[in-house]
Amino acid sequence: MRKPIVAIVGRPNVGKSTLFNKIAKKRVSIVDDLPGVTRDRLYWDAEWLGHEFTMIDTGGIEVDSNDFIMASVRRQAALAIEEADVILFVVDSKTGITTADEEVAALLRHANKPVILAVNKVDSIKDSEAVYEFYGLGLGEPLAVSAANLLNLGDLLDAVVAEFPPEQEAEEQDDRIKIAVIGRPNVGKSSLVNGLLGQERVIVSDIPGTTRDAIDTVLEKDGVSYVLIDTAGMRKKAKIEDESIERYSVVRSLSAVERADVVLMVLDAVDRVTEQDKKIAGYAHEAGKSLIIVVNKWDLVEKDSKTTLEYTQEIRNELAFMQYAPVLFISALTKQRVHRVLELVNYVAEQRSMRIATNVLNQVISDAVSINPTPSDKGKRLKIYYATQSGVNPPTIVFFVNDPEVMHFSYLRFLENKLRESFGFEGSPLRLVVRGKK
Ligand code: GDP
Ligand code: GDP
Repeated sequence: MRKPIVAIVGRPNVGKSTLFNKIAKKRVSIVDDLPGVTRDRLYWDAEWLGHEFTMIDTGGIEVDSNDFIMASVRRQAALAIEEADVILFVVDSKTGITTADEEVAALLRHANKPVILAVNKVDSIKDSEAVYEFYGLGLGEPLAVSAANLLNLGDLLDAVVAEFPPEQEAEEQDDRIKIAVIGRPNVGKSSLVNGLLGQERVIVSDIPGTTRDAIDTVLEKDGVSYVLIDTAGMRKKAKIEDESIERYSVVRSLSAVERADVVLMVLDAVDRVTEQDKKIAGYAHEAGKSLIIVVNKWDLVEKDSKTTLEYTQEIRNELAFMQYAPVLFISALTKQRVHRVLELVNYVAEQRSMRIATNVLNQVISDAVSINPTPSDKGKRLKIYYATQSGVNPPTIVFFVNDPEVMHFSYLRFLENKLRESFGFEGSPLRLVVRGKK
């Protein structure tokens, strides 16, 4: 299930980043330490009283120069209106209503999305009078908060969570393979999607996606059903891409990735791997999604016997944290190997839902330990008592040990390599959990 998305909007200096940082939960996990996972990003996981959600940092699209404040605030609001389930509009009690606030309010009033109005910097009771003028924005009751002093943030989050769309249980039962096709503008996503839909014996139908304007396409081939997520912009070709829209498309890609099982990351064979590609791949990795790297426009590359190997090597270096992702070289234009895409999707979907019997798993672990003894720390040697697979999608393996502190990161990497040698789990990240046994 897709987590609800909350966007914080407002002009510079009202305290958006401060608020964002108080709410966002820094995800501490093993995978976070992998080299190559880009930390600078636009979204964070957050949680309030058991409700999980994703926060978009629209502040990331702010421009510094004063001339651009209006434009960037407008862009933020547009992004929030398009992508978010709930919009958190922040204003500043110390300055009162400004023209920029009014402008954002006007956009939000027509947005048809729930808006929570937070009046920030109400640092003490004596400041609370300042709140009343904000009724004038026409967005309902303003909530007085102080991000810096953590005042009333609980009430604010209650109000946000109350606006989340009801959870749909039905989606849990869905056994269709959900695919997100991501990549920068012009790498050939539309061409690939059209190539997939245009194959022989493919049956196609549309279903509305979760965000406005999104269309998911259902396709069926050889008895397997797939959902291509958010294909609206890909199937009808009417796009103007500039830099800001490219930033939008990152957020859009992230919410597609969130809903997917398998992510097709399309690269342009000529441009190769860019920073943005790494960012989105890193997100797919952390979110536990399977990934296939599709190198498109292969027809444009002059090839000799070593070209494929060199390309693969380069991608492996650039995306060092996801050695498990298969790489496929295609041309959406000439249709070369396009038919291989769904075959590979089937394969990685099967790999990520594979269950390993506990005795087999423990045999592999004990063989691994006999080649490379467990590490020790301050005179204490790690003992692995037992391992078991606790889940699939992505495969999750729990190690019960004498003391989790003694488990080194590098040793976990070694165990992961051994597990992959034996079982593959191709295309999927692995979750390795270390528990102390009492
Ligand atoms: P942004 O530009 O909207 O992201 O705003 P920032 O989070 O960077 O905050 C702008 C300034 O307001 C900083 O100097 C913060 O320390 C200050 N600030 C943020 N929240 C509060 C608050 O609750 N009370 C007061 N007095 N100052 C705050
Ligand atoms: P999108 O923005 O990622 O959806 O990219 P498009 O599918 O719109 O493709 C961008 C441009 O690249 C178009 O002019 C396509 O015709 C072209 N293109 C797409 N795939 C290929 C390919 O495999 N080979 C070549 N030579 N051009 C391609």
